[in-house]
Amino acid sequence: MVAIDEYLAIVGESEIDGIKQLAGLIKGEKVVHVNATPYGGGVAEMLRRVVPLAQSLGISASWQTIRGNEEFFSITKRLHNALQGDASVGISEGEWKKYHDIAEFNSSILSLDGDVVVIHDPQPLPLINFKKGGKWVWRCHIDTSSPNMGVWSRLSGMVNMFDASVFSMERYIPKDLEIQALIDHPTIDPLSPKNEPLSADQIEKVLLRYGLDPERPIIGQVGRYDPWKDPIGAIKVYRSIKSEMSSVQFVMIGSFAKDDPEGSEWYNKTVSFAGKDKDCFILSNLDGVGDIEVNAFQRGFSAALQMSIREGFGLTVTEALWKGVPVVATRAGGIPLQVIDGVTGFLVSNYEEAAGKLRHLLKKRWLARELGQAGMRHVRLNFLITKGIMDYIRMHIELVGKSKATAR
Ligand code: UDP
Repeated sequence: MVAIDEYLAIVGESEIDGIKQLAGLIKGEKVVHVNATPYGGGVAEMLRRVVPLAQSLGISASWQTIRGNEEFFSITKRLHNALQGDASVGISEGEWKKYHDIAEFNSSILSLDGDVVVIHDPQPLPLINFKKGGKWVWRCHIDTSSPNMGVWSRLSGMVNMFDASVFSMERYIPKDLEIQALIDHPTIDPLSPKNEPLSADQIEKVLLRYGLDPERPIIGQVGRYDPWKDPIGAIKVYRSIKSEMSSVQFVMIGSFAKDDPEGSEWYNKTVSFAGKDKDCFILSNLDGVGDIEVNAFQRGFSAALQMSIREGFGLTVTEALWKGVPVVATRAGGIPLQVIDGVTGFLVSNYEEAAGKLRHLLKKRWLARELGQAGMRHVRLNFLITKGIMDYIRMHIELVGKSKATAR
């Protein structure tokens, strides 16, 4: 289990001391996290690291995932799309019932007896109907700034039953929300297999294993095969660069999450759009691309691309910046908090602009290095797990009440 002292060399003594002091105030408090999938996507990625770190600080944190069948996850993916603004989504009465029935089933098999119970995203949301005690928080990781109102009006009744809610960005807070809303930016763990330092040799081995040439430039996009991540658009950007710089290679890496039934469909669409180009690599966890491989690929990128149309926060951007890789990306979700235009990468509005900025970075390697270094500093100050755990404890204290925390 990772211990907080292991982060000393990265963030310094005063930050670590501050975390220990604050954690001492809530020692033994029981915090239960519930989400929809143990792997794939940013939420699982964060919980996998934050929960053990909280435990190592004396907090009794646990993480459980709900069970559901294909039909259930197809409903919840449509709820997710609707919350992100897809106006075409409609949910039938039968499907709403199914959504609630699965929550009822899960309430009978999960242990929801925390001092604080954190329900992540819409999939396990109706568990609130089965709340027995403790403070319940709805942690929404998606962009709910302009939701499909038909769907939101059905969900908001349940959201308003929570004691508090947490969003990744201020502007995601729905206008009609009646409960307290807190803001928490997601963070990454610099010591996880996804982000730990790798040697040049380790990076090269991974690139060679998948058939890439480490001597030639590599552009890459990491992200689930999902229409909101625009994988097809990312290939269009690569083709535009390739037409002028024939040496460039492109890698797309996407995993399949248990709660994302659209994954295979979009993977197939992407593979077929990529065609037979031998410099265009479309990879997934099914090709054996796990955390270490993602880490190595990101470190091997000359620049990273993120063409997302909608994004909750965009941890793949944080991960690339942390590795000293500049990022060219759209302004979706939390990306503009991370990609500071001209400082840690470039913000773009269309494929041609993205291709132009990437070409610029490939030609001016010194600039790519400079932006990458600035990106790393920006992540160190703002988006590491040490800051995340601090905010997590502060939120806990705010919810259970300072008096209880300081009475210990
Ligand atoms: N990820 C991965 N393998 C992949 C694609 C994505 O491990 O093939 C990880 C990625 O490194 C990041 C997370 O999944 O940690 C995606 O988080 P993000 O916030 O970017 O997007 P989300 O999937 O939550 O919408």
